[in-house]
Amino acid sequence: MKKIVIAEFMDEAAVATLRVSFDVLYDPNLVDDVASLMAAVSDADALIVRNRTQVRGELLAACAKASVIGRLGVGLDNIDVTACEARGMKVIAATGANALAVAEYVVATVMVLLRGAYLSGAEVAVGKWPRPRLSEGRETAGRTLGLVGFGGIGQLTAKLAQALGMHVVAYDPLVPPDAPVWAASGVMRRELDELLAEADAVSLHVPLTAQTRGLMDAARIGRMKAEAVLINSSRGGIVDEAALAEALGSGKLAGAALDVFEREPLPNGSPLASASNLILTPHIGGVTRESNIRVSTMIAAKVASFLQAA
Ligand code: NAD
Repeated sequence: MKKIVIAEFMDEAAVATLRVSFDVLYDPNLVDDVASLMAAVSDADALIVRNRTQVRGELLAACAKASVIGRLGVGLDNIDVTACEARGMKVIAATGANALAVAEYVVATVMVLLRGAYLSGAEVAVGKWPRPRLSEGRETAGRTLGLVGFGGIGQLTAKLAQALGMHVVAYDPLVPPDAPVWAASGVMRRELDELLAEADAVSLHVPLTAQTRGLMDAARIGRMKAEAVLINSSRGGIVDEAALAEALGSGKLAGAALDVFEREPLPNGSPLASASNLILTPHIGGVTRESNIRVSTMIAAKVASFLQAA
């Protein structure tokens, strides 16, 4: 029987489907026990991970016979894809399966940040009535959403935002001006600096690459409107966290939501800890009950059919 090692959390029903035909080692804490993980993968035919397991270097070398890596998500920055391919290993991502969860996260945080009124629970509960301060909130309809990266998640986010009455523009140099998606979606193509100057909310949907690392640095954050908000649900390292904290603190930016960070969990002493109008979530944008089932079911099926065909 072929062996599959699953090193991070996966929907139990999807794991059960794999157990029917394979020898499955499922331990969602394996990612944090490097010695056990290295030992477990040595005779595995497949390794399934989320975004925390670093599939590179020693771990990859320890995968002596694995022919496939399943990724319970889409970003592949925790996997050395070139090294996997050089070893003849197939890397399979759950393309599209968590896009809706991320797109909903984006429109929800845009609405919360623009309106600015939903986080008054602690004050109202103790008899305060901050109505004057919270009366300047903005409506979402009619505002411009700027998407940096117009792939699967960017395009779905555009649809949800348009349904709320937002005008949507996008920057993606890899989607050429004559690509049918522009006319089909009604989204206007922009250069990055134009988009930053125009948008009331900027949302990032690019992979972490050498080109996108540090993309939202102090200069680019400075090109955004002072009343605008920035959402990063893509990858840590794309936004300069110190520059963002400074812009929020000095009133150069109205608010931000970050789901992903340069280092996860956020280390002590992060400049983000004292920033205001900042929503922080623990890399959860793509994870909901429903998306966990979709992602896990897709990866279980694809890894199983790859192993069965091999
Ligand atoms: P995708 O591959 O469908 O789209 C990415 C788009 O980025 C592509 O259209 C590509 O042309 C564009 N792009 C690449 N380099 C660019 C650059 N330098 N400038 C502008 N555009 C560029 O991927 P997707 O499914 O839309 O996911 C996007 C990213 O979201 C993933 O790479 C992942 O890192 C992140 N993500 C995060 C979560 C979460 O839980 N927070 C969940 C899913 C995905």
